[in-house]
Parts: sequence; C-alpha cells; structure tokens
Amino acid sequence: MTSKDTPVRVRFAPSPTGHVHLGSARTALYNYLIAHQTGGQFVLRLEDTDQKRYVPGSEQELMDGLRWLGLEWDEGLDIGGPYGPYRQTERKEIYQKYAQQLIDSGHAYYCFCSPQRLERVRKQQMRDKVPAHYDGTCRRLDPDEAATRVAHGEAHVVRFKMPREGSITVIDRLRGPITYENRNLDDYIIVKSDGLALYHLAAISDDHMMKITHVIRGSEWLSTFPLHAHIIRAFGWEEPQWLHLSVFLRPSGKGKMSKRESGELLKDGYSIYIKDLEELGYLPEAVVNWIALMGWSYDDHTEFFNMPDLIEKFSLDRLNPSPAAINFSKLDHFNGLHIRALSLSDLAARVKPFLEKADYQVDDDRLLKIAPIIQERLVTFEDVVEVAGFFFEETVNPNFEDLVGKNMTPSDSAQAARKACELLASLPEITPQAAEQPLRALAGQLGLKPGQFFGILRVAVTGRKVSPPLLESMAVIGREKVLERLQNAIQMLENTPRAS
Ligand code: GLU
Repeated sequence: MTSKDTPVRVRFAPSPTGHVHLGSARTALYNYLIAHQTGGQFVLRLEDTDQKRYVPGSEQELMDGLRWLGLEWDEGLDIGGPYGPYRQTERKEIYQKYAQQLIDSGHAYYCFCSPQRLERVRKQQMRDKVPAHYDGTCRRLDPDEAATRVAHGEAHVVRFKMPREGSITVIDRLRGPITYENRNLDDYIIVKSDGLALYHLAAISDDHMMKITHVIRGSEWLSTFPLHAHIIRAFGWEEPQWLHLSVFLRPSGKGKMSKRESGELLKDGYSIYIKDLEELGYLPEAVVNWIALMGWSYDDHTEFFNMPDLIEKFSLDRLNPSPAAINFSKLDHFNGLHIRALSLSDLAARVKPFLEKADYQVDDDRLLKIAPIIQERLVTFEDVVEVAGFFFEETVNPNFEDLVGKNMTPSDSAQAARKACELLASLPEITPQAAEQPLRALAGQLGLKPGQFFGILRVAVTGRKVSPPLLESMAVIGREKVLERLQNAIQMLENTPRAS
C-alpha cells in the first residue's frame, strides 16, 4: 500500500516516562525507515499529558537516544515544524476545542462523579463479578443542565459516549480486520478534571492535525485501538493506516521482561535500554541492524544491513506479527560485524573514549596502529580496555604463574626469555617480517613448542595470556619497551617468589 512514490507522514509519539527501550527504538526505526523510503516525513511528538508519570530528564534522553541511533526527525520537539507545538502539554486549547466539538455533536458528555463514588461502583462491580466499567450515571444527564453545572465551576471530566450496541471493525495492516463489540467498551475519560486531554483524544487530534498517514506503534495499543477508531469516526476524519508491531519477549521467549530482570541483565553486560547499550560499547549501527530484524525480514538469509540498505529494502509487508524473543548473542554478533565494517580511523576514534574512561592517556598515532590488530577481536567497544589497554601502560605486571611456560620450570622459562631477548636485540627492527622466522627457529633449538615459547613472550610483553597477535603487538609497543619488558620478566622468573 505504501509505494516508494507515495510519501507518508508518520510519527513517533513516546511518553517521557523513563528510559528509551528496545521496543520504542524499533517503533521509531520502522517509522523513520518508511518515511525516508517514500520521501515523506518522520515526526517526533511528545505525549506528556500524564504528568504524574513524567520522569525528568527522559525527554532529553529520548532525543539523545534517537540521534545516537541515527534516527533524526524532520519535524518535532526541539526543531519545530509546520504543525507544532509538538509537546502535548502545549496544545491544551486545541484539545479543549475538539472535546467541545464532541460534546456538541453528542459523542461526549460531562461527568461529575466523584472519585469516591466511582470507587464504590468499582467495588460493587467486583462483588457482582462484572468487568469494571463506568455505570453511565452522567451519560443520562440533560446536556444543558450539565453545561450549566460546568459553567458554575463544578468539578468534572469529559467522557466519550461509547455506542452501547453494535460493533466496530478496524483494520490493522499486520492483522487484517479486527471487530470489537461496543458493549465491551467503556465510556472512557477523554478530558481529565484539570482540563487536560487524556492521551486518547490528544493523540487522535494530533494525528489528524499533523496529517499523519500511517500510525505505526506497539501492539500494547491494540486494546485502545477501537476507542481511537470511534473517536476518529465521531469527528468524521479520514483514518490513517494502522499498524501495531509485535511485542518483545524475554530471551527465553516466555513473557515480557520485567524492570527487575532488566536490572539483572546489566550485570551480564546487556541491557534493553538504549542509553546502557551505548555505554556498554555497542555500535548504533549494530543496534539498528539487530532491532530491524526483530519483527521484519528481507529474505531468509540476508542479515547485514546498514541504514541506507534498510531504507531501500524495508517493507511494511514483510513485518511479522508474532512476538520476537530478545536475543543478545545476536546483538554481539551484529556488533562484531559492524565493528569489522568500520574504517580503521573510525574504529580508532570510536574506541578512544572507552580507553580514556579507563584512564588511559591515548596517543592517536599509536591507536591508529593498534586498530587493525584489534578489529577482529572486539565484541563491544568496551572490550578495548581489556584487549588493548596494555599498549598504553608504562609497565605491565604479569602474574608469575602465567610467565612460567606450560610444563616448564621458572628457570627454563627465564632461559627461553633471555634467548628471545638477545635475539630480538640483535635484529635491526622488531616486526613480524623480521622476527617471526628467527623466533620460531629459536623455539626449535630450545626444544620448545611454539605455544610454550610464544606464551612466555606474550605474558612478558603484554602482561596477558590472551592478546592481539604478538609480533604485531611488539611492533606497536616498540623495540625499547619490548626489551625492557622481557628483562623484567626474566628477573621475575629468576627470583622465584616465596611460596605464599
Ligand atoms: N504515547 C504512546 C507511547 O508512549 C504512543 C502511542 C501511539 O503511538 O499512539 O507509547
């Protein structure tokens, strides 16, 4: 239905109630993709009518998160646009006007019931074992009398006058037609007692005024879908296309992830929050690739997509309505793929802040030399500290036990290190080309397997049992430091520590 030559107008309309999670990021992404694919507009609107749930700072986090992912909006929040303001609390008068229109046309009414009375009704309904719903007391009031009470300042809300009979059929692009029986729907509140419209009226009015053609949102909004359709039809407005995306499930595939579980997850280096993923060293490109495929596929085998690919290939017709289990090993996999797709200078620039955060003084030339030998070894940018920190250390402090070669004594290990040190000192330069063959030959002469021999040298020079390729690493560290570190290791091995 969307073809590449019919520009869509879509919106991402989050509420500022906490961190941006994977589900909202994916909703934003799909909206962004379809807007860019069709040459349309992607609008960012803040649905902040529920001030009780407002979390300070979340609006900024939201914009930072979207920008980090590369999902820049064409209209909205901080940049404005022709249909602003884009923050619902700044559009109060607009909603009041529309609420009045619904009251005047008989589709809504004033309700004066006190919270105490509503509570009594609810309790009685529980005792009668019927679903909680408004009992319709004020629905029966004479509209003129109700208007007079409002004019006299009596506290009130506005409720939508839901038809009691019949049904409504709505079309979801993913699920096809869905029919809801009106008798199961309530007379929902659309304007609160403080005069501020609730999300339902606000969102529908905004979508209309902002000329939104496609509403793409999470399937948690399916339950209010019939109310939204009723409101639109009451106004006689043209309906957008609706599409409710699948939900995300726990990695096990069972149920949704709770707040507590997402906290636990962080201990394993994962998170469902965009801000955390950035801090954990994931690439925005990898996160985008990963979430794009949680509910959409291009074919049954292509898995690497960057943003231009996605803009070209994404299609609403290939969305999958079944819930998607969050698979963090896939995220690691995509992160690796995207790290390897970076240019060396980009990789260097992007890992630098992680080294600095770990208090390393980073020399850019050196980092650029390191980039090619670590590119294959990073799962996240944060790994750079473990994988490459030793390049920026003055000295390394190997463990004595690690320095001793496999099945060797400390003095044999010292002897091997001394011979290697002499050999390296005699070479004009320490590079893989100059040093590899002579070192291998030396291992043979000493009757050592390459693994034993190079293991000692690796621990001596890098301070670690696992490191990037040893000779390439030595070339970066430089002759003087390599020899110095070998000398230190020899000394350690000769002064066998007392048993502790
Ligand atoms: N404000 C809603 C949210 O926080 C958006 C619902 C919609 O897109 O209609 O998810």
